[in-house]
Formats: sequence, C-alpha cells, structure tokens
Amino acid sequence: MHKGKTALVTGSTSGIGLGIARAFAAQGANIVFNGFGDLQEIEALQAKVRDEFGVQTAYHNADMSKPAEIEAMMKFAAEKFGAVDILVNNAGIQHVANVEDFPVERWDAIIAINLTSAFHTTRLALPSMKAKNWGRIINVASVHGLVGSAQKSAYVAAKHGIVGFTKVTALETAHTGITCNAICPGWVLTPLVQKQVDARAAQQGMSNDDAKKSLLSEKQPSGEFVTPEQLGELAIFFSSDAASQVRGVAWNMDGGWVAQ
Ligand code: NAD
Repeated sequence: MHKGKTALVTGSTSGIGLGIARAFAAQGANIVFNGFGDLQEIEALQAKVRDEFGVQTAYHNADMSKPAEIEAMMKFAAEKFGAVDILVNNAGIQHVANVEDFPVERWDAIIAINLTSAFHTTRLALPSMKAKNWGRIINVASVHGLVGSAQKSAYVAAKHGIVGFTKVTALETAHTGITCNAICPGWVLTPLVQKQVDARAAQQGMSNDDAKKSLLSEKQPSGEFVTPEQLGELAIFFSSDAASQVRGVAWNMDGGWVAQ
C-alpha cells in the first residue's frame, strides 16, 4: 500500500514505535528510525527490516527534547528520502510520583518529549505534505490522553495535550489529503511498562508474573496486554484510503480500560 512512501517514526528503536515501524515497512514504506539505544543493535534491527520487507531504512539519533536536533532529523529525512509522507509521533517517557514530590526536571522532560516534540515534527512535516496534498500524521497518545491515573501528572497532562494538538492539526488540514489522528493504547508490555511491573514486584514482594496480573487487573478489564503489532495494524488503518475521512480522533485500543 505504501511502496515508495517514507514513514518517520520517533522512538522506534523499541516497543510500540518499533512495532509501528515494522507494520509500515510491511506495507512497503521506507523507514526513518529514531530513538536511543546501542548503535549495533539499532543497525541490526534496521538490517532485519530491510531484509524482511525489501525497503530502505535510515536512522537519526535526535533527542526529542531538543528542537534543534528535531530540525536536523527532519532535514536528514528529507535529504535521504525526499519527504516524510507518514509521521508517527511515538517517542515517550514516564515518571511516577505524587504532584508535590514530582521532580521538576522530569516534568519538563515529559512535556518536551511526549508533547512538544510532536509540535516540532508536525510543523516541519506539513509543508511537504501540503505540497503533495497527501500525508498521514499519527500521534501515539495513551488512555491517559482520555482519563487520568494518580501519580502520572506530567504524563497525563502531556497525553491530554497531544489529543488536543491532534484535533487542531486535523482541523487545519481538513480540506487537504492530510489526516491527523491519535492512538490511545492501554497497557502494552514494553520496557516502559516493564519498569512499572518491576517497581510493583519490588514494593509488594510479588513475582514478576503476579505483578503483571495485578497491574492489568486494576485498569484493563481484558486482563491481557495490547501488543505493538496490534497497534501497528491500527496505524496502518489510519494511513489507508479507507480512513481518509477519519480526522482528529483519539482511538483507544485498551482491553476495555476507558469503557469503565
Ligand atoms: P519504550 O520505552 O519501549 O520506547 C520508547 C522509545 O522512545 C524508545 O525507542 C526510546 O529510545 C525512545 N525515546 C525515549 N526518549 C527519547 C528522546 N528523548 N528522544 C528520542 N527518542 C526517545 O516505550 P513504549 O511503551 O513503546 O512507548 C512508546 C509510546 O507509547 C510512548 O509515547 C508511550 O507514552 C506510549 N504508550 C505506551 C503504553 C504502554 O503501555 N507501553 C501505553 C500507552 C501509551
């Protein structure tokens, strides 16, 4: 479906971003990877994608909290592949603490990475999308873009923010072939969540498996994790012609979390 197009996925060296990048590669898109990690491992995951799907890949290590690095990444993508046709704003971090104990620098980092980076990538991607009159912008928000949870003030504020930003971007592009939508996952077992499982296991003296069950049972009625592959398929739907009139939605895939 996307042969010859270019998808840039922020935070795609791990977890959900990697799942979404692989889903776009399976549709024939060239992929610009971004995120942190061991350079040899990142080269190996790119090589796997190139071999498996016969697409081209590139990697830029921009830190999503730094606007100048984001600008350099967008320039790099344009020079490498012509333009970014599909932009997936996925990079994100978490910190868990009560408001009065929340480290100020963690608040600033979460707002910068989980929210402000999407403003920068979007403003820089829109001109070439408008020139082609086609584009897909997919923001990986969270159920925490729709509802709150205690001890996640910065994350919930950033994710509600990105849902709002998604709506405004969708309205400003409503008369074009560009759409902008948000995906709102519930619990997905990635390194970001494994840290919360580990903390729970340590605090409550539980096994890893029991900590996972306890985490899911509080919020996710299905009792099952959502997978990066399932989220990749939802992103593919948003990028399809069938979804050309899906604009400005915040679509949860959450095992029933927000239905409660
Ligand atoms: P993850 O920790 O597995 O992956 C995060 C990715 O972002 C990695 O590639 C990491 O290197 C990158 N990253 C982190 N800080 C960065 C920075 N400053 N600049 C560039 N890249 C950076 O986490 P994940 O669970 O796959 O999370 C991906 C997105 O999904 C996040 O926005 C997260 O909020 C969201 N999300 C996750 C869950 C979940 O249950 N895992 C649920 C809802 C939403």
